[in-house]
Amino acid sequence: MGSDPIRIQVLLPIPLSGPFDYLVASDVIDQNRGPLTKGDFVSVPLRGRILQGVVWDMSPEENDIALDKLKFIQGRLDLPALPLSLLGFIDWVASYTLSPLGAVLKMAMSVPHAFDQAKKKTLYRLSPNLPEKITESRRAVKDAAIGDMPLPIATWAELAAVGEGVVRGMVKAGQMIPVEVMGDASYPVPDSTFLGPKLSDEQQNAASHMQQMVKDQCFKPVLLEGITGSGKTEVYFEAIAEALKIEGGQILVLLPEIALTAQWLERFRARFGVEPVVWHSALTPASRRRAWWAVIKDGAQGRARVVVGARSALFLPFQDLKLIVVDEEHSATFKQDDGVMYHGRDMAVVRAMQSHCPVILASATPSLETILNAQAGKYDWLYMGERHGVAVLPDMKVIDLRDHKLKTGTWLSDPLREALSANFAQGEQSLLYLNRRGYAPLTLCRTCGHRMECPHCSAWLVEHRKGDKLCDKLRDKLQCHHCGFSCHKPDICPKCEGKDTMVACGPGVERVAEEIRSLFPEARVAVMASDEISSPDDMRDIIESIERHEVDFIIGTQIVTKGYHFPMLTLVGVVDADLGLSGGDPRAAERTWQQLEQVSGRAGRAERTGMVIFQSYNPHHPVLQALLSGDGQKFLEQEAEAREQQNLPPFGKLAAIIVSGADFNAVVKTARAIAARAPKNHKITVLGPVAAPMPYLRGKHRFRLLIKAEKQVKLQKIMGEWLSVCPVGRGVSLQVDIDPYNFL
Ligand code: ADP
Ligand code: ZN
Repeated sequence: MGSDPIRIQVLLPIPLSGPFDYLVASDVIDQNRGPLTKGDFVSVPLRGRILQGVVWDMSPEENDIALDKLKFIQGRLDLPALPLSLLGFIDWVASYTLSPLGAVLKMAMSVPHAFDQAKKKTLYRLSPNLPEKITESRRAVKDAAIGDMPLPIATWAELAAVGEGVVRGMVKAGQMIPVEVMGDASYPVPDSTFLGPKLSDEQQNAASHMQQMVKDQCFKPVLLEGITGSGKTEVYFEAIAEALKIEGGQILVLLPEIALTAQWLERFRARFGVEPVVWHSALTPASRRRAWWAVIKDGAQGRARVVVGARSALFLPFQDLKLIVVDEEHSATFKQDDGVMYHGRDMAVVRAMQSHCPVILASATPSLETILNAQAGKYDWLYMGERHGVAVLPDMKVIDLRDHKLKTGTWLSDPLREALSANFAQGEQSLLYLNRRGYAPLTLCRTCGHRMECPHCSAWLVEHRKGDKLCDKLRDKLQCHHCGFSCHKPDICPKCEGKDTMVACGPGVERVAEEIRSLFPEARVAVMASDEISSPDDMRDIIESIERHEVDFIIGTQIVTKGYHFPMLTLVGVVDADLGLSGGDPRAAERTWQQLEQVSGRAGRAERTGMVIFQSYNPHHPVLQALLSGDGQKFLEQEAEAREQQNLPPFGKLAAIIVSGADFNAVVKTARAIAARAPKNHKITVLGPVAAPMPYLRGKHRFRLLIKAEKQVKLQKIMGEWLSVCPVGRGVSLQVDIDPYNFL
C-alpha cells in the first residue's frame, strides 16, 4: 500500500470516442499476473455503467483533467492482453480512415460474450490399451488420431468418416477415455505434410520464392499473378505449409466473399488434412467465441493456426502472425462501405507490416494499384501463365447485338442460343452471367410510363418472382436493393390507374433462367445470386450439385465470377457485356474487365476446351477488345495512362465526404459550410457539394463532396483539421470515405 495511483488511458469500444483517462492502484493489480500492461482487458465505470475496454496507454501525457476527478478502473479481465501489433493496427486504421479509435476497437472486440467463462466440456482420446483386433470402422477412428489431442465425438467421427455411433461404442467399450476440459475444444492443427501436389516448374518457382519469404520473416508484399486455373491456390498453400512449420505460427487467409469458402475449404482439407478456422459475420456467437479464444491463445499449444475469413478477420488478436494471403486481391468486396470504411486488401498489407511478416496478394486480374506497386518494385511479382495440366484458355467471341437483334422480351441472341443448345446436347454445362439480381430491374406502366420507385431511396424497385429459394419477403414482390423495402407488384398503375398496365422491363437472372427453361424444358437450371444463397451451406449445396453434374445451366450474378472450378463447365455466355461500363466510377472499366475475365476463366478448366460468348451493343469497347485479344496488359496500360492524366487513383488521392440527413435544408447547409472551409491548397481540388449519385437513400438526403489531391499530400491530416472546424447541423451525419470504391 501507499504508492500513488497512476493515470492510464483505456479505450472503449464506443463508436464515437477516443481513449478515456482512469486511475489504477498498481499494487492491487500486480498480485496475480504481473503488472498491468498496454493491451490488457479491463472493466471500467462510465456514466453509471460498467464497460469492458483495453488499456491503451500506461503513461499518457499529462492533461487538464485533474487526477482527483478520475475514476479507478474496476478490474482486470482474465485474458491475454491484445497483442501490440493489433493495437498498432487499430491505431493505423483509425488514422487512415479518419475514424474514431473506439469504432475500430469495436471491430476487434465484436465477440458477444467472448469474456464469459466457457463451460466445461468432455472430450475423448484413445485408450493406450486399445486391443489389437478391432473392427474396420474403429480402426479408422484410431488412424484418425491427431497425436494425443482429445477431441469431441463429432470431430472424431468426421475425421474418421464414420458415424458418431462408432465413436460412442468405443467410449462404452473403454477404448476411448473421457477428458474434462475447461473452455472450448481447440482446433486440430493442419498438417503441412499431409498431401502436397506435384508442382509444375512454373508453380514450383513461385512456391519456392514465397517459401523463402516465409522463412525470412520480414515484411514484404508479393503479387502472385496467374491466369485463371494456373494453380495459384495450390501454390500459396505451399507458403502456408511453410509457415505452419514455425512453432505456433499463425496464418490468415482473406477471401472476398464468404460464400466462396465451401469449395476452398474442401481443397484446404485435401491439402492439410483438417479444416482451418473460419471467421465471418454469419458465425454463431459460440463459434465466434471459440475462434477468437483460439486465436488469442498465449501458448502455442491449442492455438488457432490457420484462419480463413472475410476482411473482419484482420481484427482478430493474432499473437504470432507469420503470413497473410489475400486471394482475389482485386475484388471490390474487400472494401467496407459503412462504418469504418477500410479496404481489406490495403489493410492486410498494413497488418503484415505491423507483424513483420510477408503478405501474398493473389489474382488472375490484379488491381491497377497492386500492379503499379509491383512495377515500382515495392512488391515482389510472381507470374504464372500456364493452365494446370491439359486445360487451355477458352476461345472467345463477341456477338454484336446490333446485327443480331433480340426478340422482344428475350435476352439471348440466336447465335448464343445455338451455342447453348449444342453444348447442352453434348451433355456439358453452360453458365450465363448477368450481374443483376431478381427478375427485372424496373417495372413501369406501359400507358403512362410511371416507374415503380422506392419511397425511401432514389432507386427503382426490382421485381422478384418465384426463385427456388427466395424468402417470402422477396417472392412475387418488388424490392429496393438498397434499403430492403418491398411491396406487391400493383395490378393498377399508381399514377394513371390503368388496369394491368404494369410491365417488367429488362432482365435479371431470374428472367434469363425463365428464358432458358422455356428453350430447354428438360434442362436442370440453377440460379446463383445472393437472394437465393443466404449461407455458406446453401452455397455448398449448389456447388456440390454442379460438381455432381446435376445442373445443366447456371445463371449467376458476380457471385459466380469467383474462383470456382467446375470441370464440366465449357460454355460461358455473358448476357450483357456492356453492363457496368457506365456511371461515375473511375474504376468502372477496370472492374468490368476483371469480372468478365474472371467469369471467362470459369470455362474449360479441365480436359474440355471452353468457349466464352459476349453479347454487346458496343463490341469495340477497349474492355471487350482486351478480353478478345487476351492482351489485358495493353488495356491496363491504357487505363493507367487515362487515370494518370486525370490524377485519379492510384496516381492521385481521392476521398469522398457524404453529408446525409432526413432534413434536406440542414444537409445542404452543412455541405455548403464544409465546402466554404475547404483547405486552400493548390495540390487539392474540392468538387461539390452536389447531390450524391444516390441523392436519397434509406430516407436520408445525401450530398457529396469529392476531394482530389496529389499523391504526396497528407490528406488525412488536412481533412481531419478541416472537418474539425466545420459546423454539422442537427441530425446530419458526415461519412468520410478515403479512396472510395462505391460511387453511390
Ligand atoms: P487458380 O487459383 O490459379 O485459378 P487453382 O489453384 O484453382 O487455380 O487450380 C486449378 C485446378 O488445377 C484445381 O483443380 C487445382 O487443384 C488443379 N491443380 C493446379 N495445380 C496442380 C498441381 N500441381 N497438381 C494437381 N492439380 C493441380
Ligand atoms: Zn430503398
